[in-house]
Amino acid sequence: MKRRDFFKYGSLLSLFGLGSSSSAWALDLAEPLASKKKRAKNIIFMVSDGMSTGTLNMADLYLQRQFGQGSNWLNLYRNNLVTRGLMDMASASSIVTDSSAASSSWGCGQRVKNGVLNVDANGNELTTIWQKFKNGGKKAGCVTSVPVTHATPAGFCISATSRNTQEEIAQKYLVMGMDLLLGGGDKFFNPEKRSDKQDMYKKYHNAGYQIVKNRTELSGSVSGKPLLGTFGDDALPYWLDHKTDTELENSVPTLAAMTAVAIDHLKGSKEGFVLQIEGGKVDWAAHANDIGGLLFDQLAFDEAIKVAIDFAAKDKETLVIICTDHGNANPGLIYGSQVNENFDNLHKFQKTNDWILQSILPTHTTADIQQRIFNANGFEISTEEAQKLLGFYTGLQAEEAGLYNYKNLPFSALADIQKKRTSVGWISMNHSGDFVEIAMYGPGSHLHKPFIKNTELHTLMLKACGVG
Ligand SMILES: [Zn+2]
Repeated sequence: MKRRDFFKYGSLLSLFGLGSSSSAWALDLAEPLASKKKRAKNIIFMVSDGMSTGTLNMADLYLQRQFGQGSNWLNLYRNNLVTRGLMDMASASSIVTDSSAASSSWGCGQRVKNGVLNVDANGNELTTIWQKFKNGGKKAGCVTSVPVTHATPAGFCISATSRNTQEEIAQKYLVMGMDLLLGGGDKFFNPEKRSDKQDMYKKYHNAGYQIVKNRTELSGSVSGKPLLGTFGDDALPYWLDHKTDTELENSVPTLAAMTAVAIDHLKGSKEGFVLQIEGGKVDWAAHANDIGGLLFDQLAFDEAIKVAIDFAAKDKETLVIICTDHGNANPGLIYGSQVNENFDNLHKFQKTNDWILQSILPTHTTADIQQRIFNANGFEISTEEAQKLLGFYTGLQAEEAGLYNYKNLPFSALADIQKKRTSVGWISMNHSGDFVEIAMYGPGSHLHKPFIKNTELHTLMLKACGVG
């Protein structure tokens, strides 16, 4: 399929997160046991960051109720096409991990402290999984909906004592010779935004990279040359806000579209390729108890699963690993007489809570806020509820207290208001210590066990490819 077609095709179906009928799709994917035991040439490692089981469940339920078809992820289960298990994600410093320790456990095969990237307790920098595969001649790439320098992609590639050194991480990727980086994070490459004023784009360009910054440029990029693409200052927009805004739709590629381009770019590599795909904002939405952000970014990730599995089914030399790095906020549907109708309200959602709360002004009235919520969510809230939200904005100069810093915005208050109309509840606004979902498709998937420790995934990937 020509790349341009994918963008056209992708976005039509992406509106509802589905390809051809999922069950029919799943049936063509069956593969004989023998091929599962073959050596893998490529690995596509997919992470929906901060996806609790409830998030996976609600995404599938939403698609079933709206379109009569389950999610691509769970249809792989329904059709018994993957090996599946649970994974213990604890880090060296806590039974509840953060994303950098989680990614490092897979990245270097050891547990490190939360906030650290592939550095052990003695301060030794450890060789990462993508470095090992590059040393073996494979091409390496990372695709994400958050900055390409963020914890999860960085955890497969480089070492750093702190995940927050994103400007340095941008430099380390260049030294490492990453073959492909697509996602957000312009501010870590752009001389006008970097604290050291260095022009990282120029450095990448001088090193032979193609630099792209929007959908059109991405679709014009050519395989065979390293590629750096940044499509947002920090993270990419939430998919719900993206698909209801023509300008964003025209300029920012979806996670599935970036996945297709990445595979296209890397598949020609003689020694094979390794590619990480991250749905990074599932985690951000969970931290904000933002059900619109969470559900639709999980659906965007589910779309990328179809792209990866479709490729692997044809290629037959690609191991696809699908997982999350930790639970977050553990959302779920609450028993009640209206739960079905309430959950179906999500179909009317047009905008995320992030969009709603970032757009409210201290000068707005309760009526303005009621109208805004009606436009964004499709239901009415009371004047008292609107007053409660407005209370967070008034009496302070809008910018003064960093009002629009997400930590200060009334995400929890809005989630509470929505709970009565969606039946979705949350246990907190932070990571949880649940054992997490992991599934594998393709050669090497027979190595997977029903319960594994996070660090085992490092050796499993090497073994699946017969490396080391
Ligand atoms: Zn995470």
